[in-house]
Amino acid sequence: MNINLSQNKNLKLFKLISEVAQNNDQTVYIVGGYVRDLLLKRNSPTDIDFVTESDGMELARNAAAHIDPKIKVSVFKNYGTAMFHYKGLDLEFVGARKESYAEHSRNPSVSKGSLEDDQKRRDFTINALAISLNQENFGELIDPFEGVLDLKNKIIRTPLQPSQTYSDDPLRMMRAIRFAATLHFKIEENSLQAIKNEAARISIISQERIMVEFNKIMLSEKPSKGLKLLEETGLMQYIMPELTALKGIEEVEGQTHKDNFWHTLEVVDNISKHTENLWLRWAALLHDVGKAPTKKFVEGSGWTFHGHEFLGSKMVKSIFYRLKMPLGNNMKYVQKLVKLSSRPIALIDEDTSDAALRRLLFDSGEDLEDLFTLCKADITTKNSAKQAKYKRNFEEVALKIKEVEEKDHVRNFQPPISGEEIMEMFGLEPSREIGILKEKVKEAILEGEIANDKEEAREFVINEGKELGLILV
Ligand code: ATP
Ligand code: MG
Repeated sequence: MNINLSQNKNLKLFKLISEVAQNNDQTVYIVGGYVRDLLLKRNSPTDIDFVTESDGMELARNAAAHIDPKIKVSVFKNYGTAMFHYKGLDLEFVGARKESYAEHSRNPSVSKGSLEDDQKRRDFTINALAISLNQENFGELIDPFEGVLDLKNKIIRTPLQPSQTYSDDPLRMMRAIRFAATLHFKIEENSLQAIKNEAARISIISQERIMVEFNKIMLSEKPSKGLKLLEETGLMQYIMPELTALKGIEEVEGQTHKDNFWHTLEVVDNISKHTENLWLRWAALLHDVGKAPTKKFVEGSGWTFHGHEFLGSKMVKSIFYRLKMPLGNNMKYVQKLVKLSSRPIALIDEDTSDAALRRLLFDSGEDLEDLFTLCKADITTKNSAKQAKYKRNFEEVALKIKEVEEKDHVRNFQPPISGEEIMEMFGLEPSREIGILKEKVKEAILEGEIANDKEEAREFVINEGKELGLILV
């Protein structure tokens, strides 16, 4: 089969690399994800992998020198690869390799090989396709493992024995599921079985690499597809046992609770229809994570998960820590949403006080809209009348909050009176009393005792200061 590259926007580059290789008696092929995505007519990827049956580093240097002598080539000697950036593209060059793995090591012994040896060591048939850039057969597709057929039938299959492939490099299990989820492909039966058998070996892979694949699953159109596969294969148990702990339904005295694992997956799918924000999707994933450790059956009231939001938000940190994800603002955002996830429901009541609305506004700040997106995604009832009613309820709460906000401006709350001003009023140095007074002002505003207004705040501070034994100067 021949691939027509004449309309390809990188044709000039491919021709140039072809020429450079030819002049140096080297072979060169495009290989891997770029070829796959080209055949799938997906968005043209910006990383392109080239393989040569001789020295990849030399080809990279020659190509770069030919394109523009100023280009800086990065060489990874240990991997025998070299890469450079060119016009928004990441171009990577590697010498064809033959690999064999020792049983207890992640590090294969590698020797020089033919193109086909190199295709064999790739993870899936759809990732083992190559296009020749050699002059005698420029554009010819080289497909020794029927990758094109698998692309057509939407199948994830390994070029070699699946158990060997996954055991050699267990990250491939995550990649299989990631590709199944993002491309809407099916993992071939023997592969799926092999992943189930080898799942425990995922523990030799670094968390960082696991999470790259996990987050690609989270960013797919319908993440539950990949999450279900992680669960079915047993991988989820190794990655996030806190989530699999949510699985199952218990019954006591004829009362059951919902299966919070499958519910969570639905919530993640729901929210993914409304946001591409990875961290909001993560908030959906972890919103009920505190339910397993807080579950209790209470005589008379049934199943309770008291305090699950609070515990859940603490668990967010330990989960991120273990998964080696950054503990910065994104983690804090997920924590915050998990912690607040049940608050809007509690405000649905008709005679909710303005104070309660103000508090939620204050606590959620700029993330109020995201919190409501989460709450709406959390509605998983199959009864459409109920679904509509719950959504309406949230919209009403949102409206009430908007009214309060317009009146009181407590969102992104800035105290109407500063610590310095309070110090001046009483002739104080920085001290504990200042903090106490500032907190009291905030509380009084949220409770609606005073308006969010400088004059009222001043008067309030004078009275409260007196109570603390402070004297106005
Ligand atoms: P994408 O870039 O869209 O995430 P990709 O398939 O291009 O997908 P890369 O990580 O860029 O993934 O890898 C490029 C190619 O290298 C793959 O297509 C595959 O042929 C090979 N490859 C990557 N990771 C592995 C692995 N763990 N085992 C075997 N081959 C791999
Ligand atoms: Mg790629």
